[in-house]
Amino acid sequence: ETPAGREAIRIIDRLRHAGFIAVLAGGCVRDALLGRTPKDFDVATDATPDSVQQVFGRRQTVAFGASFGVIGVLPPKRDTRSGDNHDTGGAPTEVATFRADGNYSDGRRPDHVTYGTAEADAARRDFTINGLFYDPAAKEILDYVDGITDLKSMHLRTIGNAHRRFDEDKLRMLRAVRFVTTLGLSVEASTMSAIVAHADSISLVSGERIGAEMRRVITHPNAVRGLRLLVETGLHSHVWPQLEKIAWPELRTRFKRLTNPSFETGMATTLLTLHRCSKDALQNLKGLTKRWKLSTAEQRAITAAIRLTPQIIDCRDAAWSSLQPILIDRDIDVVLPVAGALAEDDSGVRRAIMERQRDPSSLDPHPLLTGDDLIAEGMTPGPHFRDWLTQIRRMQLDDELHTQDEAMSWVRRQT
Ligand code: ATP
Ligand code: MG
Repeated sequence: ETPAGREAIRIIDRLRHAGFIAVLAGGCVRDALLGRTPKDFDVATDATPDSVQQVFGRRQTVAFGASFGVIGVLPPKRDTRSGDNHDTGGAPTEVATFRADGNYSDGRRPDHVTYGTAEADAARRDFTINGLFYDPAAKEILDYVDGITDLKSMHLRTIGNAHRRFDEDKLRMLRAVRFVTTLGLSVEASTMSAIVAHADSISLVSGERIGAEMRRVITHPNAVRGLRLLVETGLHSHVWPQLEKIAWPELRTRFKRLTNPSFETGMATTLLTLHRCSKDALQNLKGLTKRWKLSTAEQRAITAAIRLTPQIIDCRDAAWSSLQPILIDRDIDVVLPVAGALAEDDSGVRRAIMERQRDPSSLDPHPLLTGDDLIAEGMTPGPHFRDWLTQIRRMQLDDELHTQDEAMSWVRRQT
């Protein structure tokens, strides 16, 4: 009963009134049956993409993968009488024509698609739990693939022969790891052995696609289950080979402390568990950054967490001047949870969290002196300026110097 759900029902009603079959399909039916809030609601219909565009009008639709028969239907515009003629800002709902896929020759995408029946459309989907339809008019689930049985027993099983299905599309193997992680399923035996048999061919999937699935695994509270499955299936050899030798109990404890991992905190925690020295962790990160195409911001935050975590953990008795630069790091909100996850003795982390709450003028006070101040006093700039200013900053933070005058007289004593 979310806005997106209501919008999908509205679209289905319109298609039905135009004489077509239209149902909710795939992930949203699965999630609703599991009592979860669906991420998005996809509609499947026997109307061709052209008919869908006719029913809703060209201006209310966008042709997504037109060749795959998917049309995006935009939400209706808001009341224009209120003077507000923007639309709801909602994302378009995907309306896909029932299809029966042709051959797969590249290991990722079907060579051509043909439109087909609801039953054929269910059969071309990846896992039984993803092959369900819901007909909101009849209030009835259409289950052509025995998906309800697997949903009840929480099993992940391919639709049809597992070997053939992973042969067609290698990405499905990683989707399996993702669904197991996020839905807490177990992998049915023949599906599992087919993944093991085909694991090497995951290398045919682009690094970005792998990265996208791995993001969803890492950011889930159950991430360790997924990482473990990655190794059990052999998928890790291409995806993340170093994972093989990770200390699982330690990783589990640490993820438990993270509770809700972000991609950055999850990655940093895993890398710091994997490698004893941060040099190796950073090296590993570099490889993954390139292959999974991490953003600059992600890479920067994970790097900060790898570098600064040991310092936070050991900061209990540190001088404020050595802790302060860490606490004003732009990625400190990533660093602190990672330090919390890794710390056996959390007194350093507790201090860091406490000090971080200082008000801005005490957390990052205005410098007592700048280079310009020194020049104004008639001093000649040079490398010693930087030296002095660093020392003055340290003494300011550690409460040894309090005013500009004190700082200036300290400088004079140096000359
Ligand atoms: P979520 O949206 O929560 O990530 P989802 O199951 O909706 O999960 P999508 O990637 O949005 O996943 O795909 C929608 C549906 O399309 C799936 O439920 C499945 O039926 C089908 N599907 C997606 N990817 C594949 C694939 N690689 N092979 C076969 N069917 C697929
Ligand atoms: Mg989806």
